[in-house]
Amino acid sequence: MSDCLFCKISAGDIAADIVYQDDDCVAFRDISPKAPVHLLVIPHKHIENLYDLREEDAALMSRILLTLPKIARQQGLDQGFRTVTNTGTGGGQEVFHLHFHLLGGGSLHPI
Ligand code: 5GP
Ligand code: ZN
Repeated sequence: MSDCLFCKISAGDIAADIVYQDDDCVAFRDISPKAPVHLLVIPHKHIENLYDLREEDAALMSRILLTLPKIARQQGLDQGFRTVTNTGTGGGQEVFHLHFHLLGGGSLHPI
């Protein structure tokens, strides 16, 4: 998607502090961190949000889920971390390219 901020980060057209990437996803630091470690993990593929997922995305999403704890450990988050995915305006989503917030490194309040 040509006008999508996270597609541009995925393609390297907009700079981001990238900490991990593979064929499926890229992880970079949130520009406005809410925890000592606050990453955004996005698929390279433009998927708007969880509503936009299709059966054909099942394997991709599974691989990304399996990658989240690996990224967390690489960031030194051995005691745990939080993942948040906002879906749609009702869920507080501001960037309409599916992303997992990966947060940790401090004492997170219970939700
Ligand atoms: P959402 O509210 O859609 O779940 O989360 C979007 C996140 O993207 C926010 O936490 C916001 O701080 C982050 N963000 C917005 N623009 C940029 C940007 O240009 N670069 C980075 N690294 N993060 C961004
Ligand atoms: Zn996109």
